[in-house]
Amino acid sequence: MAADPVPFLDLKAQLRPLRADIDKAIASVLDDTSFILGPSVKSFEESFAAYCGMPHCVALHSGTAALHLALIALGIGAGDEVILPANSFVATAEAIMFAGATPVFVDVSEESFNLNVQLLEAAITNRCKAIIAVHLYGQPADMDEISAVARRRNLYVIEDACQAHGATYRGKRTGSLADVACFSFYPGKNLGAAGEGGAVVTADESLATRVAQLRNHGGLLKYEHDVLGHNFRLDSIQAAILNVKLPFLDEWNQKRNEHAQFYNSLLRGVTGVVAPVIPTDRTSSFHLYVLQVSRRDAVIEQFNLSGIGYGIHYPRPIHLLAPFRDMGQYTLPESELLSERIISLPMYPELTEQQQERVVQAILNAALPDFAVEESAANSIANRKSPTA
Ligand SMILES: *Cc1c(COP(=O)(O)O)cnc(C)c1O
Repeated sequence: MAADPVPFLDLKAQLRPLRADIDKAIASVLDDTSFILGPSVKSFEESFAAYCGMPHCVALHSGTAALHLALIALGIGAGDEVILPANSFVATAEAIMFAGATPVFVDVSEESFNLNVQLLEAAITNRCKAIIAVHLYGQPADMDEISAVARRRNLYVIEDACQAHGATYRGKRTGSLADVACFSFYPGKNLGAAGEGGAVVTADESLATRVAQLRNHGGLLKYEHDVLGHNFRLDSIQAAILNVKLPFLDEWNQKRNEHAQFYNSLLRGVTGVVAPVIPTDRTSSFHLYVLQVSRRDAVIEQFNLSGIGYGIHYPRPIHLLAPFRDMGQYTLPESELLSERIISLPMYPELTEQQQERVVQAILNAALPDFAVEESAANSIANRKSPTA
């Protein structure tokens, strides 16, 4: 008999033990009927700010809304440029466009999948106002180096921490590493609502106040509209659910890290595979566990045969997507190469070792060639193997 499929993500497994508490939290909002910006929203904002080690959190409707309002609240708009890595979810670039500014794409580093700091200075023009540092897959970007460039060039730094709740960089949690940080609570994220959700976290009180105005039609009180705003509020029911889940975030991240290490150990020395390596000065939230493989089609074929779920994050770098394609002449070889090589393996706290062994067995069944065999010498960065240490 065939083994059970291994899903890419298993939200039911996470919900099961929390179900009674979540039902109770929803019921209390229903009893209270303060559905919008109710007490559960306020208590979530306080708890999540404290979790990040920051004084202010403003809860919003989505991570995209968080990025959008952070940019507007910083005064970024028409005529301004904002730097971002080409290898991210499209929302990072959308938010820049929604603010009326122009995205400037920078290539990523092949080790970290994050913004390559070496390329930053060359991308900064005198119209540039900010850098969005994406902590992709949960691994914090090189924040000290990015902040040093930003200070020198008088730019804001915004964390896109939508995949990196609870990840740490030199002893500090994401959310506390820049002028402002943006989080998503989309259901599949490390801290997920039962619907849409997001937040801005900052140490700057006036910035937090501006975001709070902007999320609520431009005012902090009903029928006061001091600036042109949006309706980007978080529902009380979503906040109530997030309040139940937040205390488990560290434990879930710990489990994701153990699974990542187990994948790494199973893949050590396997040809045609590069496993993720996290530098010792930071921890990843392992939102995703992303491998580089020499022949992705062969791996996908084996995954399909074995009923193993997978993802590709992302199939195309943002500068090659239709809405952004005509925004400049970009050659971003690392982002473009990675987009053809990457595959995200099943990753969630409740994943079992047996499931992970089945995932890796399917990769072994693909009998991957060395990277060099598959690529012309010009294209090949190195004949890379999995880390041996
Ligand atoms: C999920 C995500 C977003 C957008 O969050 P939503 O809540 O879906 O709007 C932005 N950036 C990154 C890197 C993300 O992963």
